[in-house]
Amino acid sequence: MKYISTRGKSPELNFSDVLLSGLAPDGGLYLPKNYPSISNEELSLMRMMSYSELAFFIFSKYIDDIPSEDLKDIVKKTYTKKVYGFSRKEQNAEDITPTLKLKNNLHLLSLSNGPTIAFKDIAMQFLGNIFEYVLSKQNKSLNILGATSGDTGSAAEYAMRGKKGIKVFMLSPNGRMSPFQTAQMYSLQDKNIFNIAIKGVFDDCQDIVKAVSNDLEFKEKNKIGAVNSINWGRILAQIVYYFKGYFDVTESNDEIVDFTVPTGNFGNICAGHVARMMGLPIRKLVVATNENDVLDEFFKTGSYAPRGSDKTYLTSSPSMDISKASNFERFMFDVFKRDADILCKHWNQVDLGGSFNLTDELFERISNFGFISSSSKHVNRIGLIKKFYEDYNVIVDTHTADGLKAALDHFDSSIPMLVLETALPIKFEKSIFEAIGKYPDRPKQLQNIESLKQHNEVFNNDVNEVKNFITKNT
Ligand SMILES: *Cc1c(COP(=O)(O)O)cnc(C)c1O
Repeated sequence: MKYISTRGKSPELNFSDVLLSGLAPDGGLYLPKNYPSISNEELSLMRMMSYSELAFFIFSKYIDDIPSEDLKDIVKKTYTKKVYGFSRKEQNAEDITPTLKLKNNLHLLSLSNGPTIAFKDIAMQFLGNIFEYVLSKQNKSLNILGATSGDTGSAAEYAMRGKKGIKVFMLSPNGRMSPFQTAQMYSLQDKNIFNIAIKGVFDDCQDIVKAVSNDLEFKEKNKIGAVNSINWGRILAQIVYYFKGYFDVTESNDEIVDFTVPTGNFGNICAGHVARMMGLPIRKLVVATNENDVLDEFFKTGSYAPRGSDKTYLTSSPSMDISKASNFERFMFDVFKRDADILCKHWNQVDLGGSFNLTDELFERISNFGFISSSSKHVNRIGLIKKFYEDYNVIVDTHTADGLKAALDHFDSSIPMLVLETALPIKFEKSIFEAIGKYPDRPKQLQNIESLKQHNEVFNNDVNEVKNFITKNT
């Protein structure tokens, strides 16, 4: 399988090279040259598979430059009950992404049972293992530089801790993450993990990462890499649970289902789109946004107008506070029938801070891909957390509540709807308290996490301080 860039002006690459590169040199994102289709016979075989067998089966269609046996070992090591052990008592942890029936045809697909209790673990744990493998084969090392407001950074650190050939330099806004998130990251004692608290906000951290990455000489010399959400390896890993969820709530391959996805950078739902393109019987893919509703506006009107950080609101579902979704470009490439010139024409405007309006003809195509959307507000989230606790004795987090709102807006009671649960409620316990007047129970292993010894550097909002630190430690 070869990979091509959405902007059409980069050489084709193998999987391993796509994995280690960020953006394509022409500024585009990599996608497989075609989506392998799954036959009905294959679908029947897959129905019987465990999660790791399913992952291996799907990955094998996209990766042909890693020996099969090695890939199988990597996948087996990644998707174990031990790594994804935070599931509810009534769910089967062996399933890795178990479902939970809320009422007839309404299910949660729980993706947040990994070490940092948010769905990014599913892909990031795979990335940690496959990075280590590919780097050792190519005799290379990598220094991952990232910025986080909470979830991405901790998922990356838990995936990369102790990995040979990899160091992680993670910038976070000093004193601005929740105590739980801070403790999750700063309590790691691994020698290859460096937590850097910047005296500033998340955007300042992001700007430092950009400035370092734009210094090509420094980047080359210090082998700087990224694990951000445009990495194809992350999308690939996320395709698997759409299949798993489908098999869990259906009995035969002629049944169709709907999915609702709490959306930020469009990575998660992009994987759903790929699963559907491969032939998984998905009818609707519902995009759920919070008050940051750029994508809801697009799917309702065909007008795409990303916003700057001054118009991006801080909400109670903070991992979705994004107004320019990076993976959206991948989906639109397919909407434009993979015509890179049309893609470039639209994205040239976006890259300059502008917007675009689809023609009626192009907008009509969107529905062929099953996409619809809804947005929600804080009161909706709080109301739904309360309602689902009272009606079904299930506590969901604020992001999943955004999902429930959108799912109910589009619910067709005759067709199974799977709502992706993207974090566990203990991660956002203040909002849970606001909704139901009590805190969710914490698993034993996490009960005293805030009192563990923490370990981090504090730097001014200054690129050079960060560069010096990296040079000294690589
Ligand atoms: C990252 C994240 C999202 C958004 O996922 P995207 O792939 O960026 O669309 C939603 N919920 C939670 C809890 C997250 O951490």
